[in-house]
Amino acid sequence: MDSLRKELSELDERGHFSKTIDQVQAAIDLLEKAQEKISANPSSAAITLAGLKKPVKDSFDNVTGELKEYYSAAGRYTKAVDKKFKSQPPLTAENDALYQQSFLINRAIAMHLLREGQFNVATTFIEEAKSESMPNFDSFDGTPFNKSLVFKADTLQKQFAEMYHILHQLRQERDLSPAILWARKYSAILETRGSNLEFELCRLQYVRLFMGGDPYNSTKSPTELPLRAWAYGRSEFGPFQYRYESEIRELTGAMAYWENIADSPYRHIFLHSGAWDDVASSFNKEFCSLLGLSADSPLFVAATAGAIALPVLAKVKSKIKANGATWTTDQELPFEVPLPPAYQFHSIFVCPVSKDQATDTNPPMMMPCGHVICKESLERISKGARFKCPYCPSESNPSHAKLVYL
Ligand SMILES: [Zn+2]
Repeated sequence: MDSLRKELSELDERGHFSKTIDQVQAAIDLLEKAQEKISANPSSAAITLAGLKKPVKDSFDNVTGELKEYYSAAGRYTKAVDKKFKSQPPLTAENDALYQQSFLINRAIAMHLLREGQFNVATTFIEEAKSESMPNFDSFDGTPFNKSLVFKADTLQKQFAEMYHILHQLRQERDLSPAILWARKYSAILETRGSNLEFELCRLQYVRLFMGGDPYNSTKSPTELPLRAWAYGRSEFGPFQYRYESEIRELTGAMAYWENIADSPYRHIFLHSGAWDDVASSFNKEFCSLLGLSADSPLFVAATAGAIALPVLAKVKSKIKANGATWTTDQELPFEVPLPPAYQFHSIFVCPVSKDQATDTNPPMMMPCGHVICKESLERISKGARFKCPYCPSESNPSHAKLVYL
């Protein structure tokens, strides 16, 4: 791998063309000057052109020289790549599960580009994938090749354009209004999902007003900022008062410390440097999940997990080869690949009693007998006293039930 890296850095160095660009610019300057000279005094044409001959030729030679160096570095790099991967057999339907699934691969790439906000690249990619002998790719426009694979690139692009606009306003402009409007529009859905997004946004707006982070309003008196935050809280916190009682109490309690919030017990709320990033990533997550998508692009997740797993796979493969054994499992790996917790996915939990999907506010709880039901069902059945498990004869106390993290 080291030789590959060396050639790549060499290629990178040669690819700057800084000298070449200067040379070309110098040649252009020379030609322009000559043009001016000749148009001012046409009779000097012959002598001016004669004077140009050598410097122009020299500059061409220099440019070609540098290009040659680049090409030879590129050649060496290609050779190093070939040498490194020479043992790889060509991909066929036998050794590559995705060999005949170029549609799926292209769809994943197109989707990834759209999700990354690379709309122009995505459009070009989709056009080229369609035209390049991929009849199935028409499914992009809704031809029922396979209904579950169809997605409307145009609609998705519009949706992601909205997401990126709101994210830009949050991250770059420190403007919460578009995100708050969006969260308010989907308030009911967000609440059933147990999302805190709408409140988080409004809380940050309160903090921003309190701390004077509003560039459009310059203040005159020192009490104006906390008072403006107070007025905002009075008009906006109403719908949150039941669910976020203690958080709102903290925000209003901070009023007493308005002169020196940095030394107050509320410092962590008002001087939290990561607040904007936190709120932006929760918005990103909620927006994607409302579209039925995960917060990270599946292609990114798959490629990263693959990159983590690859060295382990390569090692196992060489060990198996050395022992003369063969890979017997077809659909699964004969060993475990250690992945970071963020890459370990769990399925959703549906309460067997209420048939509700578990949320942050209604999480799954495990009783001492090992049976799991959602918190609300547990409260309803037990009414706070000792109760019998709905699935087995054992009795338990609700306080003995443990929260299950999914
Ligand atoms: Zn039980």
